[in-house]
Amino acid sequence: MKLALMIAAVDPGIGGELVFGDRGTGKSTTVRALAALLPKMRVVKACRYGCDPQAGDSLCDECRERGRDGTLKSRMLPVPVVDLPLGATEDRVVGALDLELALTQGEKAFEPGLLARAHRGFLYIDEVNLLEDHLVDLLLDVAASGENVVEREGLSVRHPARFVLIGSGNPEEGELRPQLLDRFGLSVEVRTPEILADRIEVIRRRDEYERHPVDFVGRWKRRDGRLRGRIRRARERIDGVSVPDEFLEQAARLCIHLGTDGLRGELTLVRAARAVAALEGADETGEAHLREVAAPALRHRLRRNPLDEAGSGVRVERAIDEVLGS
Ligand SMILES: [Zn+2]
Repeated sequence: MKLALMIAAVDPGIGGELVFGDRGTGKSTTVRALAALLPKMRVVKACRYGCDPQAGDSLCDECRERGRDGTLKSRMLPVPVVDLPLGATEDRVVGALDLELALTQGEKAFEPGLLARAHRGFLYIDEVNLLEDHLVDLLLDVAASGENVVEREGLSVRHPARFVLIGSGNPEEGELRPQLLDRFGLSVEVRTPEILADRIEVIRRRDEYERHPVDFVGRWKRRDGRLRGRIRRARERIDGVSVPDEFLEQAARLCIHLGTDGLRGELTLVRAARAVAALEGADETGEAHLREVAAPALRHRLRRNPLDEAGSGVRVERAIDEVLGS
C-alpha cells in the first residue's frame, strides 16, 4: 500500500487505488500520513476550488476573473485528504445550488462539494464497494478528466478537480462490478499481520504515539524528511525516465498471458514502473520495476477462473515467473 501511494504521489494520474482488506489495519491512517508528508501546495487566496496560481488554462472561472487585474495572491496549504462518507448524496459530492442564497437573496450561486475540496489531494472512500455504482462511475469520470462539470438547477459550473481516488473495502461485504474495478489504476490487499514480531512493533509504536505524540513525531522526523525528499526528486525526474521497447514487450506479454481485457493493464504498468524508476533515481524502466508493479497494476483486471483457486496476486506473480522466468 505504501508503494502504491508513493507511486500516486509521484504520478497522480495513475488512476486511483483500491485498497482491499481487513478493518483496523491502518488503511486510512496510511493515506493521511502520506498526504501529511507531501510538500505543501500553493493555492490562490480565497479560491473555493483550491486553484494552483500557476495553473494557467485550468484555473477556475473565478480565478481567471481575479487574475485579470494583476497577479493572483496565494498562500500555502497542506495537501487535502477528503473523506467521502457512504451516505453522501450526489449534491454533496459534486456541489449544488446554494439554497440559502437562493431563498434569502434570490441569487443563483454554486456551493462547491467534496470534489472541490479534494482538488490536488486525495479523496478517500471507505467501503467503496457499498457505494452506489452511479456515484463510483461519476467519481472515476471526474478523476480521469480532472474537471467537475455541473449542469443542473439552472446552474452551469465547471471547476478543476484533480485528485487521487482511494477506495477501500472488504470484498466479503460486497464486490465492485468488473467495469469499475478495471478503471482503478492500482489495487492492493492489506491483511492483518500474522507475524508476531510485526504485531508487537505496530502495537508498540501506536501506543507510544498515543501517549507522547510530539516526541513520537520528533523521533520520526528525519525519516519522514527523507521520504518527502525522495518523492520531490522523483516528481522532478519522472519526465526524464525512458521506457525501452523491451519493457513494453514484456508488459504486453504479461498481459496477454493473463488474458486481461483491453489495454489499461499495460498502460498502468508503464506509468507505475516509470514512477518507481523515478523514486529509485533510475533513468529507464527495467524488469525489476515491472516485477514490482505487476501485482498492484494487474490483480484487479483478471477474469475469474473457477478452476484456479489461487488469489489474484498469486496468479500475477505466477504469470511473471512464467513470462520472465523466475
Ligand atoms: Zn480558482
